[in-house]
Amino acid sequence: MDINEIRADFPILKKKINGNKLIYFDNAATTQKPRQVIDAISKFYKEKNANIHRGVHTLSQEATYLYEEAHKVVGEFINSKKWQEIVFVRNTTEALNLLSYILGKSYLKEGDLVLTTKLEHHSNILPWLLLKEIKGIRVKLVEITKEGILDLEDLENKLKEGAKVLAITHTSNVTGWITPLKEIIKKAKREGAIVVVDGAQAVPHFKVDVQELDVDFYGFSGHKMLGPMGIGVLYGKEELLSKLPPFLSGGDMLDTLSLTNKTCQLCLKTLPWKYEAGTSNVEGAIGIMEAIKYIKKIGWDFIAENEKKLLSFALNNLKEMKNIEIYGPKNDENRVGVIPFNVKGFSANEVATILDQYGIAIRSGYHCAQPFHEAIGIPSSARMSFYFYNKIEEVKKTISVLRKLK
Ligand code: PMP
Repeated sequence: MDINEIRADFPILKKKINGNKLIYFDNAATTQKPRQVIDAISKFYKEKNANIHRGVHTLSQEATYLYEEAHKVVGEFINSKKWQEIVFVRNTTEALNLLSYILGKSYLKEGDLVLTTKLEHHSNILPWLLLKEIKGIRVKLVEITKEGILDLEDLENKLKEGAKVLAITHTSNVTGWITPLKEIIKKAKREGAIVVVDGAQAVPHFKVDVQELDVDFYGFSGHKMLGPMGIGVLYGKEELLSKLPPFLSGGDMLDTLSLTNKTCQLCLKTLPWKYEAGTSNVEGAIGIMEAIKYIKKIGWDFIAENEKKLLSFALNNLKEMKNIEIYGPKNDENRVGVIPFNVKGFSANEVATILDQYGIAIRSGYHCAQPFHEAIGIPSSARMSFYFYNKIEEVKKTISVLRKLK
C-alpha cells in the first residue's frame, strides 16, 4: 500500500499552513476526511435528499434504505449480533450521556455504586457525576499508576465493593494505552456490574468485536474515524436496550400515540428507532458508512503497522532529547499512536503555537482528561497523535523543530 496514494485521497493534506505543508498530528481530536466520504455526503444531497421513515415516495424510500444500510454496515464493522443494536447518536459524548440517563432512570438507585477511572475523558466521568447530583448514586474513580496506566488491583478491589456499573475507556486519549478490556469485562461481570465502554479512541485504530468482548454498551464517534462530525454510535445488547426506557422523545420513536386506545397509548417503536427520535443525521450515517468502507480498504494490518512505525520512531527520538519529558508508557507496546509530552521551559500551549508556525498541528492542554493530568502531577501536556496517513518524514520534521526549543 503506497502512503502517497493514500494521502492523495485526503484533500486537506495538500494545504499549506503558515507557508508550510500541513503536518496533521491532531488525529485523536478528529481525523481528516478522504474525498470518498466527502463525495458520498455531497452525492446524498445532490441525488437522494429526503426525510426518512416518513414518506412513501421514492426519494424517501431511497434515503431510508441508505440510513438503514448504514446501521448494518456499522453493526458488521464491530460484529454486533444484530444491526438493531446500533443506535446513531451525535458522538461518544451523547452515547455516554444517553446511557447515564437511561440507566439512572430505571436501573440505578440512590446509594448504588458507579465505577469509572482516572484514565477517562471527561465525557465518561461527568455524566456519572451529574447523576450523582440528581439521583444520589455513589461514583468512585479507579486510580492510575505513575506510568499513567490503569491500576488493575484498585479496579478489582473497587469492583468487589459491589459496583452496579463500570464505565471505562477502551483506549486512553492522552497516552493511547489500550486497556485489557476483555479481562476487565470478565471481572466486572463476575461481580455483577453492567459495563459501559468509551471506544472513541479504539474503533479508528483496531478491530473491535463487541461480541467477543461481551461488552454491554459501547460508544464511539464517526469524526475520529474519517467520518463526518455529528454522527456517533451507541452499541447496546438487545436484551438490555429493549428493556430500558427511551432517551429523547418525539417523531419516529413511537408506533402509536393514541389518546383513546388504552392498551397502547404510548407504544414505542422497536430498536433502534426507539432511541432515534426526530429527524436523523442521514448524511452522517452515509458518511460513517463510507468511512468504514475506506478503513476496510486500507486494512487493519496497514493501519497498525504504520502507526507503530510512527510511534516507535517518535518515542525513540523524544526519549533521547534532554529538553523533552514524555508521559504514559515509554514503549510502543499495547497502544495506539498517541504521545503526551512537555518541553522543559515551555508551556504546552507555547509548544503547540510554535509548531503551528511550521504548519504542524498538535493538541495542547489537558485533553478533557484533567483527572489523568492531576494524578500524574502535571497541569497540561502537548499531544501528538498519528493516523495511518501520516509519514515518518512528518515526524522527523516535528522532532527537528522540537530540538530547537531550548
Ligand atoms: N472519549 C474519548 C476517549 C475521546 O478521546 C473523546 C474525544 N476527544 C471523547 C470521548 C468525546 O468524543 P466526542 O467529542 O466525539 O463526543
